[in-house]
Amino acid sequence: MEQRQHDARFNAEILDVVIVGAGFAGLYMLHKLRTLGFSAKVFEAAEDVGGTWYWNRYPGARCDVESVQYSYSFDPALEQEWRWSERFATQPEILRYINHVADRFDLRRDIVLNTRIKAAEFNEKSGHWTVTTADGATIEARFCVMATGCLSASRLPAIDGLDRFAGEVLHTALWPREQFDFTGKRVGVIGTGSSGIQAIPLIAAQAQHVTVFQRTPNFSVPARNWDMTDDYERSWKENYPALRKRARESTWSGTLYEFSDKGAMEVDEATRQAEYERRWQTGGANFMHAFNDLLLSEPSNETAADFVRGKIRQIVQDPRTAEALLPFDHPLAAKRICVDTDYYATYNRDNVDLIDVRREPIEAITPDGLRAGEREHVFDTLVFATGFDAMTGALNAIDIRGREGHRLSDEWRDGPRSYLGLMVAGFPNLFTVTGPGSPSVLSNMIVSIEQHVDWISECLCHLRETGIDLIEAETTAQTEWGQEVNAAAERTLYPRAGSWYMGANIPGKARMFMPYVGGLGNYRRICAEVAADGYRGFRLQGIPSAAAISA
Ligand code: NAP
Repeated sequence: MEQRQHDARFNAEILDVVIVGAGFAGLYMLHKLRTLGFSAKVFEAAEDVGGTWYWNRYPGARCDVESVQYSYSFDPALEQEWRWSERFATQPEILRYINHVADRFDLRRDIVLNTRIKAAEFNEKSGHWTVTTADGATIEARFCVMATGCLSASRLPAIDGLDRFAGEVLHTALWPREQFDFTGKRVGVIGTGSSGIQAIPLIAAQAQHVTVFQRTPNFSVPARNWDMTDDYERSWKENYPALRKRARESTWSGTLYEFSDKGAMEVDEATRQAEYERRWQTGGANFMHAFNDLLLSEPSNETAADFVRGKIRQIVQDPRTAEALLPFDHPLAAKRICVDTDYYATYNRDNVDLIDVRREPIEAITPDGLRAGEREHVFDTLVFATGFDAMTGALNAIDIRGREGHRLSDEWRDGPRSYLGLMVAGFPNLFTVTGPGSPSVLSNMIVSIEQHVDWISECLCHLRETGIDLIEAETTAQTEWGQEVNAAAERTLYPRAGSWYMGANIPGKARMFMPYVGGLGNYRRICAEVAADGYRGFRLQGIPSAAAISA
């Protein structure tokens, strides 16, 4: 009888779960909840599904995790039937895949598009969340899952005069749906992170002239992309369950690479150089796994950094441009390593110039272009590849209020705190998929998304079976987890870079290393143990009756 009452509550008119965001996370969350008998709806600001892969349509956008690994594993038939056409899939292909998933699992009927969520408020009496859309509609649900993405709040720097520019202004993360034609255009590109590094070669191949404004040179390794071969595809498809399991459970990032069991200093110079060269030639982020201590030991890291700097000097013909492109202020990969196709060689083109913004700071955008270091540059189009307010930006953009009306953005003023990157103390029944404090952006996002969605789903099943209304992170567990996140980062070279992982790209944002760097396999074990131990560190409770609250 009691069980039936609980089931009825989960199936009442009030939604069991409201999900914000229809990217990889939101779609799988919806699918999973449906199969478990929960009612759920997804709200999405964009015109269609896809999340970050919907918005980032800039030329050259592609994933730098191999497509056979950057894909869902939850459905064996999907895994076998979908065919990737390249080693590293382009944005259009990934978006086609996401759309295929939405159709294949009939997800669209529970996805509300063109609807931005602007607020979410917890009601202590009912124990429900009320979510408010930008046009004022409200939705009530018992649980709220923020599947809002880690890199989804794009960022324009506050440069004087931006609104006065007479030409087109584009941002890589808000790219127009129609293909943008750069033919005959004079283009200024600001930003040389992963997005800029991917876009610049393709823009340069089309435009009349490109001027790149670089503030910090980044490390980039060649992708060496290739068309998918039957043999490579088969080698994965025949072994998917075992390979996925290994990636999930025994790797640091949820992606299988050619891992080394040696430190860089354990081998002699010739062996080290040969290994870097071999990996440089085969391409991709596999380069980073040449030795097992590149992000742990500064001298080891320096050998890899020097190798890449040597490559830049070899590729770029003009010595002054080459010198300006040499990364100097952070260890290799302590800022997200970039993976490119012909990025450095693009500076050998006659129609490409590089401006070092540290020597010639951008002073203002003008109606005709921009002024930097007292020089006027004239452009038809300005491209901002200036990144994101990462990890917290999309969450803080929503007015999220938990117990006693406390705002999440206030709670996170000194940096995001969470328990396991899944929940925040004071915000019962609110889950964050790949939230700060979880491996998230340091891992294969799809692997981490699947783990969080599975964990949240199992948690909701547990609550349903045990008749519990609320789950909430305990402050002590959250504090201890924050210390663990911090300690894990301190064991690495990551905090040595002023990266977006640290919040350093946003003026005024608290500096704190946000993702958990202790390894995905390790993190998964911790999450599983916490659940097996009766959700250790979470408070599980019923809702006090209205009389008890008012007493
Ligand atoms: P990003 O890495 O944050 O790069 C932003 C760039 O803009 C940096 O070069 C930054 O310089 C520059 N910048 C920002 N404000 C500026 C200003 N006022 N003046 C001059 N330069 C300025 O952003 P992103 O390139 O969009 O990449 C973000 C993340 O998205 C990546 O790290 C990656 O995780 C993901 N991503 C992945 C792929 C892929 O899978 N291949 C592709 C694209 C993006 P500073 O370094 O000096 O701040």
